[in-house]
Amino acid sequence: HAAQPAHAAPGAHAAPYLNPGLPVAKRVADLLGRMTPQEKIGQMTQAERGAVDADPGQITSLNLGSLLSGGGSTPARNTPSGWADMVDGYQARALATRLKIPLLYGVDSVHGHNNLVGATVFPHNLAMGATRDPGLVKREEQITAEETKATGPQWVFAPCVCVTRDARWGRTYESFGEDPGLVIKMETGIEGFQGRGKDLSGPRHVLATAKHFAGDGDTAFGSSTSGTYTIDQGVTITDRGTFGRIDLAPYVTAVRKYGVGSIMPSFSSVDWKEDGVGNPLKMSAHRELLTDVLKKKIGFDGFLISDWEAIHQIPGDYATQVRTSVNAGMDMFMEPYSAPQFERTLLAEVQAGRVPMSRVDDAVGRILKAKFELGLFEHPYTDRSNARTIGSASHRAVAREAVAKSQVLLKNSGHALPLSKSQRIYVAGANADDIGNQAGGWTVTWQGSSGATIPGTTILKGIRQNAPHVTYSADASAPTEGSDVGVVVVGEKPYAEGVGDVGNGHTLDLSAADRAAIGKVCGAIKTCVVLDVAGRPQIVTDLLPKMDALVMSWLPGSEGAGVSDVLFGKRPFTGKLPVTWPRSEAQEPINIGDRNYDPLFPYGHGLKTRR
Ligand code: BGC
Repeated sequence: HAAQPAHAAPGAHAAPYLNPGLPVAKRVADLLGRMTPQEKIGQMTQAERGAVDADPGQITSLNLGSLLSGGGSTPARNTPSGWADMVDGYQARALATRLKIPLLYGVDSVHGHNNLVGATVFPHNLAMGATRDPGLVKREEQITAEETKATGPQWVFAPCVCVTRDARWGRTYESFGEDPGLVIKMETGIEGFQGRGKDLSGPRHVLATAKHFAGDGDTAFGSSTSGTYTIDQGVTITDRGTFGRIDLAPYVTAVRKYGVGSIMPSFSSVDWKEDGVGNPLKMSAHRELLTDVLKKKIGFDGFLISDWEAIHQIPGDYATQVRTSVNAGMDMFMEPYSAPQFERTLLAEVQAGRVPMSRVDDAVGRILKAKFELGLFEHPYTDRSNARTIGSASHRAVAREAVAKSQVLLKNSGHALPLSKSQRIYVAGANADDIGNQAGGWTVTWQGSSGATIPGTTILKGIRQNAPHVTYSADASAPTEGSDVGVVVVGEKPYAEGVGDVGNGHTLDLSAADRAAIGKVCGAIKTCVVLDVAGRPQIVTDLLPKMDALVMSWLPGSEGAGVSDVLFGKRPFTGKLPVTWPRSEAQEPINIGDRNYDPLFPYGHGLKTRR
């Protein structure tokens, strides 16, 4: 069909799709009817902002539908206005296209607007699972949405509604827990992002993404009869019934209860037991799950965004990968550095009749629907009015509350906790005074990093705010018997995806330095409290008898004072384990409901203290 211009003739009425008074479905149909195949395919394409930076004209010439800042790809000025100027600059390019279709800009705001220096950085999801507080998760995501949208992006790749079933998975901390029921409870975050009843057009709401569909937290690890499996981007070996109960269940709620706007299919594969194990199929190619189950049966009416170059893992040449994924039901393609190639390839597949135009129209219709719902055609540029609330005291207070509520008291013999301000406190361990470590991965950069990467309060600083007699040694040198209590802060260094802390050999073990610090401090000082700042349970079985108290602090983010709030009894300990704590790594995968369940601490464990 011939493409029609948006404005038929000078003075003529604007095209119906530009009329905000019309229902979204009418606007989508009108706009689709005007688009060329190239323009449609452009809407299905998402590039990394770093890839278009050298030549932003591509945004116009390729009709790009979306950009992302993947893996912490931040603007030159990593400030609220630096972000907004960057996003608006790209938006101007998109609005220079024939049909003036605005861009959708996506970021991984997975624990606050974590790419932005100065944002409120919340504890990672696993800690939020420990709070058992859906209202708090909703407030977290309201704040995250507000801070994100005030800097430009209207779309977040969050929440991860993965159900983590094996702590060896390097994304364990991105999950709310091992129990699908708990994950479902915490999906209130979607309402926080999108607004009640999906009210996307306001300055405080963003489009959410439930990820990674589905089974990402349930993949097999190590060797099995049919091969060796990596646990990240690996294979979920299961039957349809179990998959439905464990891995799929959060998506039913995300779609039917919260109307989640987008869903990101997982890097992982599924291998059905009832079909005879040995035929794993990548989620990006999984027509049964993407189209028949998710879109048709569950009723998902948003759009699917592929994960970072995920389609490149589908067997076959690039044309096969593109065709297979589009025909399986994928709508938008995160092709960070191959947008031109993707567009050319899909166009050729459509022209050859191997991808039906009806499938393209379905995909584009879903994407345009989100853009209309977000009000982007009316307000394409950043509303910066909320930028002043970014990292504000009231936002940080919510994060601090979340930190306090997420702390899990695993052991407390002889009432070692709470501490009192009259005690002489010896603090040890690198993670006591390192905000980068306590924020973990997905903080400013993709992997996160140690050091003073973001403003905020370290755990040590929080302790110092509560007690005058505090000495600190990162390497636990010279603990003195004159101290009343030793606090050893151990744990992991930041990582994202993969299998975890590389420096620690990817294992769940404590590092040698951490083990030595616990030995020294607990040997020299009568009362000894250990805090674990990590993205998942670590193996502490043999050291536990030496400790008077053990607290799981998770990855608290920017507000370390929340930890001292519970340490000093200003708030009670109420957190409960969202995952099972194994005695040894060999026990993994270990989950509540297993036969012969014999962990160090069971799912749900968490001692309480009184305020
Ligand atoms: C991750 C996603 C993330 C995407 C964009 C991928 O590597 O798996 O969770 O949303 O990158 O940064």
